Amino acid sequence: MMSTGSQKHTDSIFALATPPGRAGIAVFKLSGTGLIKSLGGLMNKPLPASHQARLRIIWDEHKNPIDQGLVLFMKAPHSFTGEDVVELHIHGSLAVMDRLATRLINMGLRQAEPGEFTRRAFMNGRMDLTEVEGLADLIDSETDMQREQALRQMDGGLKRLYEGLKEKLLDILAYIEGEIDFPDEGDVPDRLAGLSGPLLSDVKSEMKSLLSDSERGARIRNGIHITILGHPNAGKSSIINMLAKKDIAIISNIPGTTRDILSTDIFMHGLPVCLFDTAGLRDSEEIIEIEGMRRAEQKAKDSDMRIWVHDHSAALNVDEVLDHVLPGDMIWINKCDLDGPAVDYKTLKDYGCYEISALSGKGVSVALAALETEIKTRFSISETAGLTRARHKDCIKTALAALEITEQNLSFAPELAGDDVRSSLQALEELSGRADMDMVFDRIFSRFCIGK
Ligand code: GDP
Repeated sequence: MMSTGSQKHTDSIFALATPPGRAGIAVFKLSGTGLIKSLGGLMNKPLPASHQARLRIIWDEHKNPIDQGLVLFMKAPHSFTGEDVVELHIHGSLAVMDRLATRLINMGLRQAEPGEFTRRAFMNGRMDLTEVEGLADLIDSETDMQREQALRQMDGGLKRLYEGLKEKLLDILAYIEGEIDFPDEGDVPDRLAGLSGPLLSDVKSEMKSLLSDSERGARIRNGIHITILGHPNAGKSSIINMLAKKDIAIISNIPGTTRDILSTDIFMHGLPVCLFDTAGLRDSEEIIEIEGMRRAEQKAKDSDMRIWVHDHSAALNVDEVLDHVLPGDMIWINKCDLDGPAVDYKTLKDYGCYEISALSGKGVSVALAALETEIKTRFSISETAGLTRARHKDCIKTALAALEITEQNLSFAPELAGDDVRSSLQALEELSGRADMDMVFDRIFSRFCIGK
C-alpha cells in the first residue's frame, strides 16, 4: 500500500546503477531511512550538502583509499525514493566496484532487489503505479515514439487523466449521497438524474474514448503486427525480405515452401512493426500444409493489418481476397513486371491497392510510403496521454461497467447507486496502484533491473 506521506523505516540498500563491466565511470546508488548514520567512515569528509556533488576519497575499513569520485547526496524526502539517497560516482573498474560492494555490505547495507528503489519511490508516494510503468517503459524504449509515450506516462500524463475522472466521480457521489441523506421536496430519482446525469455521461464517454484509443498506446509499446498473406508463389517471402532488408524467408518458385509462420521486426515511422510471412493459401491435401494455412489465417485475423499479395500474372479472385482483408488493409499486386489479366480495382476501393514488382523494385517506394502513412495515421502517438497496457484497459473497463449499473440504479434504486460509483472509483484506485494489489506490484517491480 502507498504510505500516506510518513515514511516507513527501511534498511539501507545499494546497487550498481550502471551496467556491470569495465567503463569510465560506475555509479553506486544507496538508499535508506537511516542511510547517513550507516555511512560513517566511508569517506574522508562529511557528505556534501543535499543536491550538491563533491569529490571525496572512498575509504576501506582501515582508512586506505578504495577510489575517489563524485559523491551526490539527496536528502529525504527530495529524492527518487523519498528516502536519503547517496550516489557514488567511482571509476568503472571491476576491482574498485567489487571492493566497494564488499565495503558497503560490511557496513550493513544490503544489495537491492530488482526494482527495489522504484518500489520504495512508489511506497513513499513519490510515484503512482502508472508513473512506475512509464519509467519501466522508458528504460525498455527502443523507438522515439516509445520513448515519447513512456516519458509522458512517467511524467504523470495518465495520472492526471484518471484524477480528472475521479474528481467527477466524487462529484456524482456527493450528489447521490446528498440526495439520499437529505432529500428535498419532490422525486429523488428525477432530481438525481438531473444533477448527476450529465456528469455521468461525460465520464462514461471519456472512458469509452480512452478504451477505443487504447490499441494505439499498446501498439506503440508492443509493436504493430502485420501479416503478409496470399497464394503460394505470389512473392510474399520476396516482399518480407525486401521490407526487412535481409533474408528472413526462403524465396523459391516451388509452391508451398513457407510452411510455418516466420516473423521479423522492423521499425516504420518510429514504431516497432512485426511482419509475419505465412504459408501460401491454396487447395491442398497435405496435412502439414493444411496446418500451415490454418495458422496463417489465424495470424492474419489476430494482426493489426494484413497485406494480401497477388501475382499479377494470375487471375485475381476478388471474393477470396475480400474474405481475408479488412478495410484499411493493403493489396499489393506483385510481379507487375509480368503481363497479366486486368484487375478490377473498383471492387477493391476500400483497400490500399498497389502494383509493385519485388523483383525489379517498380512501384515499391509508392506502396511503402502508403504503408507508412497508414501506420502513422492508425497507430502513432495521440495528442494526449492514454492507456498503454492491458492492466489499464481492464481497470477502465471495470470502472465503466460499474457506471453503466449506476445509471440504471439512479432511476430504480438510487440508494444503491452510491455503491456503484464507489466500485468505479475502486477500479481507478487500482489503476493508480492505491488499492490492495500486492501480487500486481510484485509482477511490475520485479521486471525492473537491479539499481532501479
Ligand atoms: P511466396 O511463395 O509467396 O513466398 O513467393 P516467393 O517470394 O518465394 O516468390 C516465388 C517466386 O516468384 C520466386 O521465384 C521469386 O523469385 C519470384 N518473384 C517474386 N517477386 C517477383 C516479381 O516481382 N516479379 C517476378 N517476375 N518474379 C517474382
